[in-house]
Amino acid sequence: MLTATEQREVVELAREFAKEKIEPFAAEWDRTSHFPREVIDELGKLGFLGMTTPEEYDGMGLDTVTYLLALEEISAADAAIAVSIGIHNAIPTTMLVRHGTPAQKERWLRPMARGELLAGFALSEAEAGSDAASLRAQATRDGKEWVLNGAKAWATNAGTADLMMIMVRTDQPNARRGPKGISTFVVPTDTKGYKAAKPEDKMGLRASNTAGIELNDVRLPADHMLGDEGMGFVYAMEGLDAGRLGIGAQAVGIARRALEHSISYCAERKQFGKAIQDFQAVQFKLADMATRIEAARALSHRVAGRKDAGEDVTMFTSMVKLFASETAMWVTTQAIQLFGGYGYMRDFPVEKLFRDAKVTEIYEGTSEIQRVVIARALRHS
Ligand SMILES: Cc1cc2nc3c(=O)[nH]c(=O)nc-3n(C[C@H](O)[C@H](O)[C@H](O)COP(=O)(O)OP(=O)(O)OC[C@H]3O[C@@H](n4cnc5c(N)ncnc54)[C@H](O)[C@@H]3O)c2cc1C
Repeated sequence: MLTATEQREVVELAREFAKEKIEPFAAEWDRTSHFPREVIDELGKLGFLGMTTPEEYDGMGLDTVTYLLALEEISAADAAIAVSIGIHNAIPTTMLVRHGTPAQKERWLRPMARGELLAGFALSEAEAGSDAASLRAQATRDGKEWVLNGAKAWATNAGTADLMMIMVRTDQPNARRGPKGISTFVVPTDTKGYKAAKPEDKMGLRASNTAGIELNDVRLPADHMLGDEGMGFVYAMEGLDAGRLGIGAQAVGIARRALEHSISYCAERKQFGKAIQDFQAVQFKLADMATRIEAARALSHRVAGRKDAGEDVTMFTSMVKLFASETAMWVTTQAIQLFGGYGYMRDFPVEKLFRDAKVTEIYEGTSEIQRVVIARALRHS
């Protein structure tokens, strides 16, 4: 647990970096779909690719609240950068910390934490999104090696990462075991047979790299399997607990920036001879936006505390993801309304925030799937 001063220093570092090195360029990266790897590398040198990694593995060892606050700052500048480092910190890092052997931690976790390797996570397939356990990519044992074949879809960092955590089936077609037939492999992206597809042309988060992956006879030594055979789906769900909190911080960052822009704009924009901030209907909109953002942040920090205390937080991380993402979508919609016609134009910043907000309701489990998780947990409570 960091002291309040240490926490402030980390958040301040993230804020300053985001203000100087990310925000001024975010609109251009968005327009050109440019993934600025050099910025990710700089963030890595400052420790932001090892935020959740224990200090003994060269990470910052941040508590989850501090991690979320830092991610919120990056996200307020550009959520595309936040998702690239958020995935790395939340899912591959969590998987290696929890299930990596000492040798795997030395080989991958330590350089990941130092920012020398960027990682991603590939669970989804074209026919297996919400129903991820129905995935079909296959690994077959061949002596001391595993051979991976199949295709993954929409993986963040797939075309820019140095290694990907890939979920594939290790049960055989004549003896399927459902989720228990899935295992996780650490796949360096320069392995023969790994091919990232052309990056997706997305509505938002356009500076992030999202791509399908082809696996054509990817041969891996057995020590590239993470943890136990057949446990990959469980590890993926554990990773998503951390991931969904990260998406919550991303959503809060997007919403906060939309509110900040709205406050400034409403002070400047004059209609009927006065600033539009003087109309009560406008004031009420700003008040509601601020209240919902505060509620989303408070919920996510409360759940972060429970996670660090070792509680089972699966239902609660779904609540965070659900509430924060719907808040971001609602707040950015209000922001466009407050900007009027200008809000609809690319020259103004809020339409990007609106586009970036939308995906937070979709990835790492749609809002409907979060409600399924919450309702199921309530039934069993
Ligand atoms: C920008 C981006 C980045 C991504 N990054 C990654 C990544 O890094 N790694 C990765 O593995 N995946 C990634 N994904 C994939 C993402 O996680 C999936 O898109 C998401 O889980 C939804 O799956 P789907 O798109 O197949 O939708 P579907 O599962 O086909 O859902 C379609 C609709 O049906 C609804 N639905 C489905 N099942 C139910 C149900 N049981 N009850 C009620 N409604 C239901 C859904 O809520 C949705 O509205 C990314 C996606 C995007 C867009």
